[in-house]
Amino acid sequence: MPLAGKHIYLLLLVSHSLRGNVLSYSSRSVEDYLKAIYKFEEIFGIAKTGDIARELEVTAATVSKILKRLEAGKLIERLPYEGVKLSPKGRAIAITIIKKHRLAEYFLHYYLKFDLVKAHIYAHMLEHMPEEFFNRLWIFMNKPCRCPHGNIIPGLPEYREEELQEIINDSPLLKIKEGVPIKITRILCSFHFDLTDKLTKAGMVVGNTIIIEKISTNSMVIRNPSNNTALEIPLYQANFIRGIALSDRKHSEWCTTPMRS
Ligand SMILES: [Zn+2]
Ligand SMILES: [Zn+2]
Repeated sequence: MPLAGKHIYLLLLVSHSLRGNVLSYSSRSVEDYLKAIYKFEEIFGIAKTGDIARELEVTAATVSKILKRLEAGKLIERLPYEGVKLSPKGRAIAITIIKKHRLAEYFLHYYLKFDLVKAHIYAHMLEHMPEEFFNRLWIFMNKPCRCPHGNIIPGLPEYREEELQEIINDSPLLKIKEGVPIKITRILCSFHFDLTDKLTKAGMVVGNTIIIEKISTNSMVIRNPSNNTALEIPLYQANFIRGIALSDRKHSEWCTTPMRS
């Protein structure tokens, strides 16, 4: 997308020539900010300064400064006291980068067998390959539409309906009852390396089934019934795991069967 590329270049140029203190700005590119905002919108519907700061490992003050510039460049829209959202222009740029990132992750994880953490880190480096490369890679990999974390790869020419449906119907673990088998649909925390790592080691990956064993004030215990591994995770992190309750449907079928016969 040559137009998007030009905007980023112009924005960087303006910031470098007009501002004195651009060090923090240039250490994290405009692309990184747009990507982070896209991901938080995907999780929470909005991106908050604190979340962006934590993910990019910069101060909240730096984030506020950059957000002002992104707003001036009409790349984001601000919702007072709530956070920011991407503008259509900002979203178009974010989509081209996220698409490359998630296709690269798919390749690194499923073809080259790198774990989820390494796939995420190396994908960041591959994002700078031209779009032509990723278009061919997509076809080579039989047109996947979700990354290994379960997230939809945006900006593709076609999608499989059942994969989209799974994302539309899933919910955060916190909204699912204890004791119900849950199919993991998304792990929205590619940036929480420790959690991604723990989940992977416990076999709690996208497509596998888990059960919430206990929910307490600050944490929850989840269990993988196939290997009997349990994991205690803080409720804040439980927000990043999405799934579909499997027995709700079975339960209602079971309840209605006697009525029909
Ligand atoms: Zn990633
Ligand atoms: Zn991913």
